[in-house]
Amino acid sequence: MMHRFFTLFLMFFLSVLLCGGLFAAQRNTMTCDWCGKKIASNASFLKSEDKNFCSEKCFDAYVESLLPVCDVCGRRFKQGFTSDGKNYCSKACLETTFRECVHCHRREPRGVILGTDIFLCDYCRELPACSSCQMPLDKFAKELGDGRTLCRECARDAIFTQSEAEKIMTALRQKLADKFKMGTKHTITFDLCTREELKKESTGDGERELGLFIFNRNTITFFNRPIRSKDEFRILILKGQPPDFFRGVGAHELAHDWMQENLPHIDDPQLREGFAEFVSWLYAKTEKLDRVPWRIEQNTDPVYGDGFRRVRDLMGDAKTASEWKRILLNVCPAPAK
Ligand SMILES: [Zn+2]
Ligand SMILES: [Zn+2]
Ligand SMILES: [Zn+2]
Ligand SMILES: [Zn+2]
Ligand SMILES: [Zn+2]
Repeated sequence: MMHRFFTLFLMFFLSVLLCGGLFAAQRNTMTCDWCGKKIASNASFLKSEDKNFCSEKCFDAYVESLLPVCDVCGRRFKQGFTSDGKNYCSKACLETTFRECVHCHRREPRGVILGTDIFLCDYCRELPACSSCQMPLDKFAKELGDGRTLCRECARDAIFTQSEAEKIMTALRQKLADKFKMGTKHTITFDLCTREELKKESTGDGERELGLFIFNRNTITFFNRPIRSKDEFRILILKGQPPDFFRGVGAHELAHDWMQENLPHIDDPQLREGFAEFVSWLYAKTEKLDRVPWRIEQNTDPVYGDGFRRVRDLMGDAKTASEWKRILLNVCPAPAK
C-alpha cells in the first residue's frame, strides 16, 4: 500500500490598496464585493485586484473563502497537506487516513497489508521477521536451528510431529479431491522433514523450499525387457510451519502429484510450479487461509511468482481439475504416442 502526500503551501499574492478619494469618480455606484453594501462616497475602502471591500473584515472573509477546505475536519487552512486530490489542514487530520501498524501502533502512510487486513508499516518491515508469517519478532520468538525463526503465534501451533503431518495431509488430499475433483488413487508417502533432509532430496534450491514432491519409476526388467514398473510417490514437507502455511505447501505438492499422473509431459518449470502455486492459492482462498494467498501473490520469483500469475490468467474461472487439464493441454499438447 502506497500513500503519497505532499505539503501544500498556499501563497497569496493579493495586493491590497487602501483607497480614499482617488476613485471619487466611480464612488457613486460602488458596492462591497463581499457583503454587497454600498460604500459611502466619503469612506475609505480596500481594493484588491478588481474587487472592492468596505472593510478589512470583508476583505479577510473574502481571502478566507479562497482557502482550501480540510477533507477531514472541514476547516479552511493556509498551510497543510494534499494527498490523492484531497486536502488536509494538519498532520493530525492527514494521519486519520493512515492505517495503524499492527506492530508499533503508529499511524503510518507506507507499509504492506499482510493477509487481508493486517497493516505493517515500512519501519516495522525492516525488523527481524518471522520466517513463516513475516511479522516482526519479539522476545518470545523461537529459533528452529535451521536458519528459521518463528514468532510466538506461529511457534504455538506449528507442525512438529509426523502423526500430525500425516493427519493433515490425508484430510487435505480428500479435500482437494472433493473440492476440485483433483484426486489420485495411488499411495503417497508423506514425510515431515528437516531442512537438511529436504536439501538432500531436492534438485533445486533446498535453502528456500518448504516442501517437495518426489516421483520415482522403478522398472523391473527381464532379459532387458521391461516387464513391470513400480511407481513411488513421496511428499516431503518442512517441519515447523503453522497449519495454514503447512496446508498451502501441502496443496502445492499434491498438485504436482496430480500433474504427474495427468500431465506428465509438461516440463516447462513455469507451468509446473505456476500450476502448483495456483492450486495452493485457490484452495487457500476458498478455505480463507488469508496469509497463504498473500504470500503467493507477493512472490516475485520468475518461476513461482510469474508462473502463478501466468497460470491464474490461463485458468480464468475454471475450478475443476478436468477443466484445468483441458486448458493446460491446449497450451502444451501431449506428444503423439
Ligand atoms: Zn463589506
Ligand atoms: Zn483538518
Ligand atoms: Zn510499525
Ligand atoms: Zn509468524
Ligand atoms: Zn513445486
